[in-house]
Amino acid sequence: MSVEIKLFDKRDGFYHLIGSPLALASEPYSKKAWMKFDCIPALQFPNQKYVQGTVSNVDCYSKVATIRSVSGDIEGSYDYLIVSSGLRRYLSEAGEQIESIRRSTEAIVVIGGGTVGIEMASELKGIHPTKTLKLIQSRDKLLSSEPLPDDFKDQTLSLLEEAGVEVTRNNRVTDVTAVKYAEGSSVYKVTLSDGIQSMASHVIWAISKSIPRADYLRVAALNNEGLPRLIRDVANPKHHFAAGDIVAWSGIKRCGAAMAMGHNAAFNIHQQMLESQFGHTPGFMEFPEVPPMISLVVGKKAILYSPSEGTQSGAEVMKNFFGDDLGLKSMNSSLRISTGC
Ligand SMILES: Cc1cc2nc3c(=O)[nH]c(=O)nc-3n(C[C@H](O)[C@H](O)[C@H](O)COP(=O)(O)OP(=O)(O)OC[C@H]3O[C@@H](n4cnc5c(N)ncnc54)[C@H](O)[C@@H]3O)c2cc1C
Repeated sequence: MSVEIKLFDKRDGFYHLIGSPLALASEPYSKKAWMKFDCIPALQFPNQKYVQGTVSNVDCYSKVATIRSVSGDIEGSYDYLIVSSGLRRYLSEAGEQIESIRRSTEAIVVIGGGTVGIEMASELKGIHPTKTLKLIQSRDKLLSSEPLPDDFKDQTLSLLEEAGVEVTRNNRVTDVTAVKYAEGSSVYKVTLSDGIQSMASHVIWAISKSIPRADYLRVAALNNEGLPRLIRDVANPKHHFAAGDIVAWSGIKRCGAAMAMGHNAAFNIHQQMLESQFGHTPGFMEFPEVPPMISLVVGKKAILYSPSEGTQSGAEVMKNFFGDDLGLKSMNSSLRISTGC
């Protein structure tokens, strides 16, 4: 069977998103966390083409996508489409943050005790052990919006404090004002809801809600949170698939589920191609409900939760799930990315 596969991405490479807390703290790591698509052997087949561009419109009725590229708009028809454009998260630019933190003389304040805030604060403390790291959380528990048991949230707090991060809970940041600008540096006055004020050299907001990146799909194909509806609700449903964070699905958004969805989508498309070309009776894979599961890196330890295993944490959990580099080597090895590429 001859198949032509096109990958469109506005970036020119794959970014190891899980490594963001360390990439935003360490320049050498931030360089390694970025891999050009040209370096990924699985994408180097003659029937595969990567095009750098932003998908700006998809017409599910006529099966035509519009892509904004540096050489202008391209229109392309397709037989099957998989959308996997993830969530838009507001993470700072690595170079600026690393430099600002390196120069800091006052505390570094992370606002928000969700997954991103926790990992960011603990990685920064690991890279800069002599700097004061503060995390401000508005609720009593960390991870307050996650459907996770209290013992997981309590153990995460203990690990974060053990890693040297000063955690303030039940207090929200009401104001951040730049009070002094010396050449090349800035200082902020951070005010909390109980009136206490403190100075910070760098403030990281880790509270923004992630927004689905699906504005190229017609409104009829999206639910009221902007995520793709189940495929039966769109035109030509057998030709349209969604995978990864962009999908409205159960469970906490995680890369394992994202990759498994991508695999299922590819398998189901292949089944349909076999059916149309050879009359094969298709057997489709269904994606299961996903219970809340999570794994987090906090300092030199990791903590994870699954309904079957409960909460586990420690250095051994870290080694088994993340290695010593937030899973970068293991991701490179599964993508067969050679060193030096
Ligand atoms: C700080 C942080 C830490 C995390 N830690 C963990 C962890 O420890 N374990 C875990 O399992 N998960 C973790 N996650 C979640 C995990 O990273 C995601 O579940 C996973 O990356 C989702 O993959 P995806 O392919 O759906 O989306 P993404 O990885 O977001 O990829 C989407 C791609 O689509 C491209 N794109 C977007 N819009 C367009 C467009 N219009 N046109 C063309 N291209 C477009 C983007 O450039 C991007 O390359 C973490 C996430 C963050 C932010």
